[in-house]
Order: sequence, then C-alpha cells, then structure tokens
Amino acid sequence: MADHPHFLRSLSIALLVGVAYWGGAYLGVTQTITPGGIAIVWPPNAVVLAALLILPRRDWISVIPAVILAEWLADVPAFPTWAALAFGVINLFEVFLAASLIRRFTKAPFRFDTLQQAGIFVLSGPLLASAVAALAGALVYILLGRDETSFLTLWRLWWLGDGLGLLLITPLLVTLWHDRAQLWPLRNAKLIAEYLLLCLLILGLGALVFGVLSPYQPGLPLSPLILLPAVAWAAAKFSVAGTAGAILLIAGLAIGFMVHGAAPYGGLDPQQAVWILQEYLVILVALGVGAAVLLREITSQKLQLLLLDRAIHATSDSIIIADARQPDTPIIWTNPGFEHLFGYSSTEVLGRNCRFLNEREPDQPGVAEVADAIRDQRVCEVILRNYRKSGEPLWIELSIAPVKDGNGDTTHFVGVQHDLTELKATEAALREAKSDLEARNHELEQRVTERTAQLTTTNSRLERLASTDHLTGAANRRSFLQLGQRTIRRYNTSGQPLAMLMLDLDHFKAVNDRYGHLAGDLVLASLGDCIRQYIRPGDLFGRFGGEEFLVLLPGLALEDGERIAERLRQEIEALIIPHEDQSIRVTASMGIASLQPSWDINMLLQSADNALYQAKREGRNRVASYRAANQT
Ligand code: GH3
Ligand code: MG
Ligand code: MG
Repeated sequence: MADHPHFLRSLSIALLVGVAYWGGAYLGVTQTITPGGIAIVWPPNAVVLAALLILPRRDWISVIPAVILAEWLADVPAFPTWAALAFGVINLFEVFLAASLIRRFTKAPFRFDTLQQAGIFVLSGPLLASAVAALAGALVYILLGRDETSFLTLWRLWWLGDGLGLLLITPLLVTLWHDRAQLWPLRNAKLIAEYLLLCLLILGLGALVFGVLSPYQPGLPLSPLILLPAVAWAAAKFSVAGTAGAILLIAGLAIGFMVHGAAPYGGLDPQQAVWILQEYLVILVALGVGAAVLLREITSQKLQLLLLDRAIHATSDSIIIADARQPDTPIIWTNPGFEHLFGYSSTEVLGRNCRFLNEREPDQPGVAEVADAIRDQRVCEVILRNYRKSGEPLWIELSIAPVKDGNGDTTHFVGVQHDLTELKATEAALREAKSDLEARNHELEQRVTERTAQLTTTNSRLERLASTDHLTGAANRRSFLQLGQRTIRRYNTSGQPLAMLMLDLDHFKAVNDRYGHLAGDLVLASLGDCIRQYIRPGDLFGRFGGEEFLVLLPGLALEDGERIAERLRQEIEALIIPHEDQSIRVTASMGIASLQPSWDINMLLQSADNALYQAKREGRNRVASYRAANQT
C-alpha cells in the first residue's frame, strides 16, 4: 500500500472497464443476436481497446482482472467456467495485440488525427487482431460441441462480430475522450440542435428503411444507402466523434430491427442478411469516419499552413522561392519582407533568376558559393552584397535550402535574406574607432618615448654636470672619491698595482695676483686640457679643490707612476698659456703613492698628500714619492 493514489487509480480503471465490458457483453448477447441465433456485433472488446489506446501503458495491467471477471459474470451459466475463462483470455489477447500494434506504428497520443492513424487502426484491430483471436474463439466453440456449425463459419462469425464492434465503437470512445474539452460544457447550442436534427433524420429514415419497409420490395427504390447523406453531413460538421456516433445510431437501429424480427434484407437467408448488414455498416464506417478523419487532418494542416503563412508574412526577412525544375530557376514567390527589403514589387521579379540582386558585383566570393550550392542542390549560408532597386547596396546574410520531393529530387529552393547592413555599419564604425584609438595610442607612445629620451639625456647631462668640474672637465671631488673608491676596491681584491698622483700648482696665488683671477681660471682650464690629453683612457682625473688635482693610475706600480709624473711635470713646465699679449707659464709639484693591501682611498690620498708636501718642501716643481715601511 505504499502507493495509495496509484492503487486507487488502478482500482477505478478496473471497475470502469469491468462494468463497461460486462455491459457491452450483455448488450452483445441480449441485443445483437438474431432470432436465428447469429451474433451481429460484439461491443465489449471495442470498449477495452479504447481504454488501452487512451490509458498509459502502466495502467494496462489493471484491465486484465476486470475483463476476466466481467466475461465470467456475463457467460455463466450459459457457458462452463473453462469456456468463460477462455473467452476472456482470447478477448484480452485480441485487444492487447491490437493496442500494441497501433502504439508501435503511430505517434502518441493516438487520436484518429490522420488517415494514416485510422489505417493502422483498421489493419491492426478489426483486420488482424480480430481475425487471429477468432481462430481461438472458433476452436473453443468446436470444443464445446454444441451444434453442427463449421469451424470456418464460427471463425467468420467471431471475426466479423468483433471487427465490426471495434470499427463502430472504438473511434467514438477514443475521440470523445480526447475531444471532451470541446464537448463539455455544451457551448454551441446551435450545433447541438443541428446534431439532434441529424439524429432525428437518421431515426426517421432508419426506421423506414430497416423497420417499416423492406428496401428490396419490388417497386420501391429504397436502399439502406439512403442514409449515406446523413453520414456525409455528420462527417462534414461533427468531426470523428459526431460521425462515429451517427453511424452507431444507424447500426443500433438496423441491428435492433433485425434482432426483433424485422427483415431489412427480406427474402434473404438470415445468415446472408446478417453479413450484408455487417458489410453495409463497415462501408458506412469506412466512408463516414474515414472522411471525418481526412477532414480533420486537412483542417489541421490548413491551420498549420495558415500559421506558417502568417509567420512568413510577419517576418522582416526576405523570403524567395524559386522553381528548380524550370530552366534558370525562376522566382515563383516572394514574401512582403522581400518587397520591403529590396524595393521591388513581387510581380516585377516573378519569373526572373535571383542573380539580378547582385549583378552589379558578380565577382564576390559569396556569389560563387551560392552558385555551387545551387548546382549541388545543398544548403548554404553566405554573407554577400545585394543591391536594392534604387541601387543602394545591402549586406545580406543569405540562407538557401533545397526543397525535395518524395523521390529526393529538388523541386524548389527557398532563400532567406537577412539584412546585415546596419550591423556591418556598426562594425565598420567600431573598427574605425579602434584604429583611431590605436593611432592615438601610437602617437602617445611615441611622445612618451621622445620625452623619456630627452629626460635621459638631460639626466645624464645633469649627472655629468654634477660630477664634473666645469672649468677643467675633471671629475669633481665627490665623484672622484666615489669612482676612485670603487676602483680601489677592485684592485684590492685582484692584487694588481695602482698608483695615485696628487698635483698642486706652485705659487698659484702669485699668478692670480699678477694676471688676475680670470687668467688664473684660464691657466686651470689649460692645465686640465694638458693633463686629460696626457693620461690614458682608463685613468681617473679629478680636481680635488683650488689648483689641486688627482690622477688615479690603475695598473701602475710606484716606479711607473713616478715616471709618468715626471713626464707630466715636464709637460706642464713646457706649457705656454697665451693670455692677452703675454704668455703665462706655471710649474707643479706632485706626490705619488701606491696602493697597499687593505688601504682605502683616504689612506692612499693621505700618502699622496704627504709626498706632495715633501715635494713642496724640497723646492717645488718636482715629484716626490711616498714609500711605505715595506717599500724601498
Ligand atoms: P704653493 O702651492 O706653491 O705653496 O703656493 P700657492 O700660491 O699656490 O698656495 P696655495 O696652493 O695655498 O694657494 C692656492 C691659491 O689658488 C688660492 C687661490 O687664490 C687660488 N685659487 C684656488 N682656486 C682657484 C680658482 O678656481 N681660480 C683662480 N683663479 N684661483 C684659484
Ligand atoms: Mg694649493
Ligand atoms: Mg699651490
């Protein structure tokens, strides 16, 4: 009892099907058997088949006990229990076979929507399942051994009775169920009145044909076919359910009169009369229900076409249909979207090939692609330029699809043109804006680069200014100490020799006094030039202050330094500095020291200064060396 609602549902289905089956069987046994004992129609199977076609498969199982029980109730005591059970099983087999085949070969839900569905129903149910089940049913009758009827006759009786039941009742129940929303509440009073009128007509004509007058009496041109117009009326106005209902009414009348002794086919053998009536009813169903189903299918297709037509008219895309079977594939139809987009009227372009839309620019790659697709009769999608009637170009996204007939031959091409012009314009504007931005960026970058270069030059000039003495071009004191210390550290670790020369002009105060301060400056500048020309590129030349200069001589031992200093002293001594109409000459004293292990620049300076002091003391215009304790 885990699934209460499901159990209740199964129980209700079983009850409903059981009662309907029993009712159908009762009707079949009491109301459709002729005085001669021939059953005309067997209704209960039709009810169960309708249930199976309406219900989902999971509910099918509920039907089985209901049918067995109802069959047993209807048959006992007329038949022994084994025969009643056999009948139940045979009838179940018939409807399950029919329902399975119908479900297998049609798309759910099965509603007699198309002629194909109706055809599959007729083939699977009345023709196949009923005929097969009738074999077993006839066998049971033979086993019962009640009369002398042949197996073949029993089989035919069973088959026609069951088959007719399915034809008359199942379509009615299935379509009533699916169309119930349209029937209830009974909305259209006029239509109901019309249906009642139709029923009255059927009752009147039917009573006349089947009850009162025998149609085949001499002199009266009356045939049961006189009811055909009534059936046509039903098919035209009242759909499948209404038609099936009308035919059921006719069947009821005919069977009723025949069962109660009237003889519509008077003069015939009773068995033949029954067969002729059965044939007649089958024809009515085939024509009436068939026509109603066909109308239903056509109506729904018409509705679908109408919807498609509306959609095609509503779209702003241009749609063109061209005939692939005619030479040069002429246009046979265009939608309003085409007229609007291209500015041509439909009549102007009918019969022409589509190429006039791009004949101003036939060399586009898209045009060739389209031609290939049309030649190969395949789908294609391209973007190309088309032209309006006014000559204005349009960017078009074109989709072409071939339409094939049942044999796979292409009969038409459908082309859909979507206008991309605005999109393309936006794209172009964006691209332009982008390249504009890029150009500006580039310009900006260039300016930044230029400015950076300027800054770098200025910086290095400033640096040079900050580290250089402007009068002599020598490194200033701070810069000399910095660079010198760096070099000394390197020579300390490598152990290579390094000498330092300190130079001071002799009696320079007197030069200033005699020639003036400007002349003094000129002397200093000339001295700077002289020293710079004399030293090697790797030597470091600095102005220590006033008229005191320093030269760092990497790689030179004390003796080499002394030699260099001596020659420099001579150069200076020989230097003639023209000033106004006079020549100024100067001399310099120099002190030389060499780097000792673990010395820093201050100690080296101190030593060179000591040596310089010694040179001054010893009479000036000379070179003196500082010798450490370990030097000789
Ligand atoms: P000595 O070195 O031989 O002992 O005598 P001196 O006259 O050269 O004495 P000292 O080196 O002490 O004097 C330096 C003088 O150099 C002082 C100053 O007038 C002069 N002087 C220093 N710097 C400059 C300068 O930039 N320009 C000029 N024209 N003179 C300077
Ligand atoms: Mg000095
Ligand atoms: Mg001096």
